[in-house]
Amino acid sequence: MTTATELSGTPREQLACAFRWLARLDMHEGVANHCSLATQADGRRFLVNPEGRHFAEMRASDLVEVDASAAQRPESIDPTAWAIHGAMHRQGRGVGCVMHAHSLYATALACLETPELPPVEQNAMRFFERVHIDAGFDGMGLDEEAERLGKLAGTAPILLLGNHGVVATGHDVAEAFDHLYYFERACRSYLVARASGLPVRPVAPEIARKTAQQWEDYLAQGSAHMHLAALMRLLDRDAPDYRD
Ligand SMILES: [Zn+2]
Ligand SMILES: [Zn+2]
Repeated sequence: MTTATELSGTPREQLACAFRWLARLDMHEGVANHCSLATQADGRRFLVNPEGRHFAEMRASDLVEVDASAAQRPESIDPTAWAIHGAMHRQGRGVGCVMHAHSLYATALACLETPELPPVEQNAMRFFERVHIDAGFDGMGLDEEAERLGKLAGTAPILLLGNHGVVATGHDVAEAFDHLYYFERACRSYLVARASGLPVRPVAPEIARKTAQQWEDYLAQGSAHMHLAALMRLLDRDAPDYRD
């Protein structure tokens, strides 16, 4: 018997599900952006989406397994995926899965002069003191930028890329997806509240800290796995070819 938090399917199927769902949530960028998943503990080998394939059509068998320490980039992989995800899997600690998106609200936050997310509601409080802001945007993520971002991988669940987008990391697909999803929701609420033109009212740091800990307890009980398992059930119903 399987419990609610046990995930069905292979890591490839879980990652393909995440791509499909990011497309449904309009958190995709056409055929750009990437999600990757380490296939060995030291992160040297990882699965990533091939260049040119839309998130909405991703299948488990489309994902390409690459070696981050190889001298040559495989031809089917986008250069920035190879550079940034390769550096993150090589250098990050406990970083099984890396999801990189230019989702609307997280990216809008990244455009602000002060791209901080104050603890204005529960989703935002989940990330209190758990966002690393990188303000060093220097072009399309090759060379120095990849190495700089690689060193930051795993220091916080969310790496907000100033003037660019967001990276969520987790031990597995379920955890990284859950972080990315809730961070986008948190940015959405915050920016809509800000758009009212009225002052926002963050809670006191000790309340935010307590709530962030409650989120972590919830995650430790398997909430992220429950979330992804539900998405896989929904896709099994109306788009089961993601498992192919
Ligand atoms: Zn990427
Ligand atoms: Zn990007």
